[in-house]
Amino acid sequence: MALGANSTHHIQYTLNYQTEFLGEITFTRAQRFDDIELSNLESIMSSLVLPLRNALLYSTALHNAMKDPLTGAGNRISMQSTLERDIAIAQRHNQALSVLMVDIDYFKRINDTYGHSTGDTVLVNVAHTLQKQLRNSDSLFRYGGEEFLVVLPNTCSLGAAVVAERLRASLEALQISNEQGVISVTASIGCAALKAQESLNSVLQRSDAALYAAKNKGRNQVSYAS
Ligand code: GH3
Ligand code: MG
Ligand code: MG
Repeated sequence: MALGANSTHHIQYTLNYQTEFLGEITFTRAQRFDDIELSNLESIMSSLVLPLRNALLYSTALHNAMKDPLTGAGNRISMQSTLERDIAIAQRHNQALSVLMVDIDYFKRINDTYGHSTGDTVLVNVAHTLQKQLRNSDSLFRYGGEEFLVVLPNTCSLGAAVVAERLRASLEALQISNEQGVISVTASIGCAALKAQESLNSVLQRSDAALYAAKNKGRNQVSYAS
């Protein structure tokens, strides 16, 4: 972050709390800094260290409280608040919104064949693959064990179908190498577009029903809620 214009004279401080690096701060101006000013700046910097560290800890804690620790996708708590907000915006402005429920096919077999820890690695790879296909305005959440929810603001059912198919294809193409060989996965996806006045629970239930239909039709496919 930079405030003001860069200038000729610089004084730079590295901010450490014990052995922990917190950051660097540089002051700059056209006139030289004299000894009294430098000593004042130093004493201000030393009283900045502890509050800065607390603020950074707080910000990390807030960030972690919203994330699934394994995959880095949003967790259920952040899913609830993001969806509530996105649905309210869509309804207020008469905009489309779609959700995709993504569930890995036969994931239990991956755990059974390769072990739980490899299963975890697969989950991380799946989450990253999904995230890479999404726009900044879209959100990815870990809904449950091997189930992810994608929220697509401003996206109608036609647009959601394109995204869902892209996600499905990207997971089908994913190859995860480990000591025991190369693992591939597929996923089934249930797609639902928000209806006028529809509640969060209702749109989630419809995407879940569509997912169930995709599983029943043979997996590795997208199904659409009615
Ligand atoms: P389907 O195609 O019907 O979805 O079959 P499935 O095997 O994917 O579904 P099922 O619900 O039978 O099994 C899901 C498995 O996901 C079982 C559970 O042990 C595993 N699982 C859930 N959470 C985690 C996790 O965090 N790590 C790992 N490694 N496995 C997990
Ligand atoms: Mg599954
Ligand atoms: Mg499941």
